Amino acid sequence: MFDFPRNTGWIEVICGPMFSGKTEELIRRLRRAQIARQRVAIFKAILDTRYDADQLVSHSQQTIPSISVKSAWEILNHAKHADVFGVDEAQFLGVELIEVSAQLANDGKRMIIAGLDTDYRGLPFEPVPQLLAIAEYITKTLAICVQCGNPAKFTQRIVESADLILVGAADAYEPRCRRCFRPPEPVYSLKNQLSLGEIKK
Ligand code: ZN
Repeated sequence: MFDFPRNTGWIEVICGPMFSGKTEELIRRLRRAQIARQRVAIFKAILDTRYDADQLVSHSQQTIPSISVKSAWEILNHAKHADVFGVDEAQFLGVELIEVSAQLANDGKRMIIAGLDTDYRGLPFEPVPQLLAIAEYITKTLAICVQCGNPAKFTQRIVESADLILVGAADAYEPRCRRCFRPPEPVYSLKNQLSLGEIKK
């Protein structure tokens, strides 16, 4: 048994709510690969301007140099220069990231992808759900509910806004458990699921 497969690529997904340590865990794995002298390339969406344009920074101030991209397709331009690909904030890179990740993994690359699995409404947040379906390894990180201390799976928005994403506004959110989470639509309904599908088209 090896720790990881050999002579093949694969996909790892690290997902969970905000404040659950996803970026920290991503940085930890990427650093281990760097220590093993593997060629590492790290990406994030240009949209995510929090903290620093050219490095990943976790909430606990760990940093690692990164490349900012407008589109997931740009990651393919680096295919020849790395064996391990890290992607942070996958929810900002759209459904294109699914095809890009599958292609790179099929070409023998190790893909490590971190992102939100649900949005502030508690609904699946593409592309992470589809990445989970095609990944070999899944880690779900949990935060701690600010209201009661239970493990927190949800990201509660605590300001009023009609936007799906409030970029760089960490103070507009807090982690909550299932019991304390108050989504804008109270029921996890089929109607919500269908409207998500429409947004994608
Ligand atoms: Zn709670």
